[in-house]
Amino acid sequence: MNAPSSDSLQQRIAALIAAQGPISVAQYMTLALHDAAGGYYATRQPFGAAGDFTTAPEISQMFGEMLGLWCVQVWHDQGQPRQKRLVELGPGRGTMMADVLRAAKVAPEFLLGLDVVLVESSPVLQKVQAEKLKDSGAAIRWTTHFDDSITDRPLFLLANEFFDAMPVRQYVKTERGWCERLVVAKNGELEFALAPMPTPHAAIAATRAAAPDGGVYETAPASTALAEAIARAVASNGGGALLVDYGYGENLGAYGETLQAVGGHRFSDVLADPGENDLSAHVDFAAIGDAARHGGAAVYGPRAQGEFLADLGITGRAEQLMKSNPASAQTLFAAVERLIGPDQMGNLFKAMAFLPPSAAKPPGF
Ligand code: SAH
Repeated sequence: MNAPSSDSLQQRIAALIAAQGPISVAQYMTLALHDAAGGYYATRQPFGAAGDFTTAPEISQMFGEMLGLWCVQVWHDQGQPRQKRLVELGPGRGTMMADVLRAAKVAPEFLLGLDVVLVESSPVLQKVQAEKLKDSGAAIRWTTHFDDSITDRPLFLLANEFFDAMPVRQYVKTERGWCERLVVAKNGELEFALAPMPTPHAAIAATRAAAPDGGVYETAPASTALAEAIARAVASNGGGALLVDYGYGENLGAYGETLQAVGGHRFSDVLADPGENDLSAHVDFAAIGDAARHGGAAVYGPRAQGEFLADLGITGRAEQLMKSNPASAQTLFAAVERLIGPDQMGNLFKAMAFLPPSAAKPPGF
């Protein structure tokens, strides 16, 4: 759907459905987020107070600094390999990478000859990142996905709020079994409908036997495939991957769906105005961890972001910054509270790491 067209993305999705039949929720999400002409990420700059949502690196420089020091420590623990690559998935405005690279200056050898790769699908955001990082001193290149150019040397990979944007498929429990939820078009409007026939799905049956009618099961095949690929790279070449996202560890408990649309800091309708709102779903860390173990890595976490950052010493870092700039004390205190407070981001957000099985336990876990 990349041909230039004056039709809205909604009209083009409706036309696609008319021509090819109902599409999965995952396909819908992919089009709404990434369609070259109308997709949310492909065409806009969604972050910050004026945008649709705020993320941890945009709240405080301390977040990226902690993650940068995490990479340096893991690199240190593995004997400081000279060849190495630092990768960020979905770098947004480039804020976190700027903070990571600045914090990593404590270990100049880590930065020496470092290949920095930003994995970013949006041409708009690639430009924003290039501008933000132009004085970082690092040699940075971009790719649009996690490809073979990334996986041939020790890999230090960071991803904050990336996996929540991966497309999910949804299955709904009915009296005839688990049926996939699909997107259909009626008179040009998009609606949800259930596939008439149930999906034979052993994994659902096993883990969700007690689900009531109407219970929803989400899978994210793109997320688990990516987690496995990252884990395989880390397990065979060394390094470590650190994913931070909002999500759940064991089964959700309630058999609910988590796919949501957010625009202008407010929830909206998932199917209304595709391309205008951010779509995301809670990350199933249990599934991602299983996929990474299947890829050969040792998996740490999920651990609550608050505990993780506290262990890494974010409070000490805040005190240090307060000393050098007492006027900023209030702001720093509020930022730490927002990042680690259990009723703020501290509990909902989780950290998970993949390391080679032979490597030492990483900091923060
Ligand atoms: N990590 C940043 C931005 C999070 S938003 C932060 O914490 O502020 C998600 C980011 O991932 C955006 O930069 C978006 O364009 C990018 N992205 C989403 N899906 C992607 C995909 N499938 N491939 C590459 N980049 C993607």
